[in-house]
Amino acid sequence: MNVPSAAAASLQPPLSRNGLPPGVHFIQRDWLSSNQVLLCDSDPQRWAQECAPDQAPHDYTLIDTSYVKHQHTTLALLRHQIGAGRLRRIINTHLHSDHCGGNALLSTTWDCEVLVPRASLEDVNRWDAVALSHAGTGQDCPPFRATGSLQPGDAFVAGGLEWQVHAAPGHDHKSLLFFAPAQGLLVSADALWENGFGILFPALEGESAFDEQDSVLDLIESLRPQRVLPGHGAMFTDVAKALATARSRLKAMRDKPERNARNALKALIKFKILDVEVMTIEHFLRDYARTSVNRAAARQLGQPAEVLLHQALLELHEAGQVRIEGDVFYNREVP
Ligand SMILES: [Zn+2]
Repeated sequence: MNVPSAAAASLQPPLSRNGLPPGVHFIQRDWLSSNQVLLCDSDPQRWAQECAPDQAPHDYTLIDTSYVKHQHTTLALLRHQIGAGRLRRIINTHLHSDHCGGNALLSTTWDCEVLVPRASLEDVNRWDAVALSHAGTGQDCPPFRATGSLQPGDAFVAGGLEWQVHAAPGHDHKSLLFFAPAQGLLVSADALWENGFGILFPALEGESAFDEQDSVLDLIESLRPQRVLPGHGAMFTDVAKALATARSRLKAMRDKPERNARNALKALIKFKILDVEVMTIEHFLRDYARTSVNRAAARQLGQPAEVLLHQALLELHEAGQVRIEGDVFYNREVP
């Protein structure tokens, strides 16, 4: 999908106090839900009015929609930002459950377009929960319909900026990232966070992913972004530092590939407990060990999934990241 945007590229709106153009809002969430980037699609001549609820209603584009557990919070946050305006388009960087769990609710609330990576379009529209990774990770995601797609080389206009669409394989080979050269803004999804990047899921299945992640980091460096809006965690401007951190983590994984598998087990446990909040250890080891992503990690590490998960759980408890009491465990924040 290519949208001409000569007007968008030629006008440079002033940056607001948080360093973002006035039509770009970054909504930081926790680690269960992806962050959202809300982009005001009003006429470029109206940028200076700043897109805000008390102004005239605007149309908006939203990049990524959170995990299903938080979908009503996401809706409330959007209503607050949008006011009497309208969400006209959802764009997903990729289809992991924490990035598209609000798609169904939001797209029916506003009857909006939903654009997904072209490589995932068929998986979405026949709702293949295995191909979309939701079955393999044991995570929930309500089905939704995609109305279109984006692929590397495309461009779209949103928030008064033209965004380039780039491939971001590694964490998810079908993932995209979006770059607005006029303001040096990068929506990096899970390809680059301030302090790392997402689990390299294909590597758990024995597929190539380290080289792909390496090339995505090179791509990001070549784009020379000034500010990164990541899929999780805070936005950041010290891109060189984030790239150095990511490269050193990637090198550690290459040197010891089982590190990716062990990190993945722990990250998936933390995600699970953020989702369900409390779980018996027996239930966890019996059911969760069966998910294909945990079985794949266990194959790589050469031990039964139950043993590895129990070990990872104890390590998380010792690190203060989950709490075990008797035969249950829960997120450490839950009393
Ligand atoms: Zn992801």
